[in-house]
Amino acid sequence: MTSKIKKIGVLTSGGDSPGMNAAIRAVVRACAYYNVECVGIYRGYQGMIEGDFKDMGPRDVKNIINKGGTILKSARSADFRTKEGRKLAYDNLTAAGIDSFVVIGGDGSFTGAEIFNEEYKFPVIGIPGTIDNDIYGTSHTLGYDTALNTVIDAIDKIRDTANSHNRLFFVEVMGRDAGHIALNAGIGAGAEEILIPEEDFGLERLVESLKRSKDSGKTSSIVVVSEGDKIGKNVFELKDYIEENMPEYDVRVSVLGHMQRGGSPSCFDRVLASRLGVKAVETLLEGKSNFMVGLNQDKVTLTPLEQAIKGQSEIDMELVKVSDIVSS
Ligand code: ATP
Repeated sequence: MTSKIKKIGVLTSGGDSPGMNAAIRAVVRACAYYNVECVGIYRGYQGMIEGDFKDMGPRDVKNIINKGGTILKSARSADFRTKEGRKLAYDNLTAAGIDSFVVIGGDGSFTGAEIFNEEYKFPVIGIPGTIDNDIYGTSHTLGYDTALNTVIDAIDKIRDTANSHNRLFFVEVMGRDAGHIALNAGIGAGAEEILIPEEDFGLERLVESLKRSKDSGKTSSIVVVSEGDKIGKNVFELKDYIEENMPEYDVRVSVLGHMQRGGSPSCFDRVLASRLGVKAVETLLEGKSNFMVGLNQDKVTLTPLEQAIKGQSEIDMELVKVSDIVSS
């Protein structure tokens, strides 16, 4: 491949997710394979502004494919939101001979990349890395599959104790704007009810459903609640409401929190990260910019960053139906 691109920067930005290291590894090794230099940019855009760079070769990324978090660290950079901050970043990149970058992160990180490209015509490619799976243009984001497995593991354990005491558990999972984790992990863990931000079934329906479930002989119940669910009550308010309206239930709450972001990535996330990392480098070398690499029907595809940022990742209504049927 002959290309104008000679030195590619790679950074992780926004919230971390399992699989980011595997993606860094793939970018670094694809650069080596295609004979271009690669530079790790630490602490997201903040490291770009501060010139926190390190040359990366294939051996610098050994033994990280199985590690959660990100060896490059991540950050949220308020300075990159300013013109002055982005100018400093541009000066540092050009001084270091970096002529393009791959950013692994969510839609905020892609917005930063797009604005930077607009201002400096700097080639950029995004890799979707977030456990929420809330990015348009890919069926899976990096870390989502691992997070699902972490959540079902946790719910399996909670069910053991729920069963032993005839308890109702509200389990809050991550997903402020998207119910992908709640819906999929809820089905996978056999939840009785799943509350997601995309649907507002109302509290009466929840009470009705729990009553039906009790009448049908169930001795414990798990309700999976996405942190941004639209009933508009947080998980502790839900507990209070059910205790008031169904005094026969012994209600408990478990907020899974940040443990959902950690851990060794699943095989699926490692393979996805490897595919997306290689494609990101190849796309830059082909002279393209402003795309997100993603997965669609098991093929690696390109989506313009602008669409990835603005588009809505929809939940699958078939899953809502399946959940209703299998939880009865
Ligand atoms: P997550 O899904 O975990 O929230 P994210 O990539 O969406 O990941 P953000 O904090 O929204 O996380 O964005 C990461 C960084 O991208 C910000 O800290 C900022 O440096 C940069 N960024 C976001 N929006 C903009 C913007 N409008 N202009 C310039 N930079 C931005």
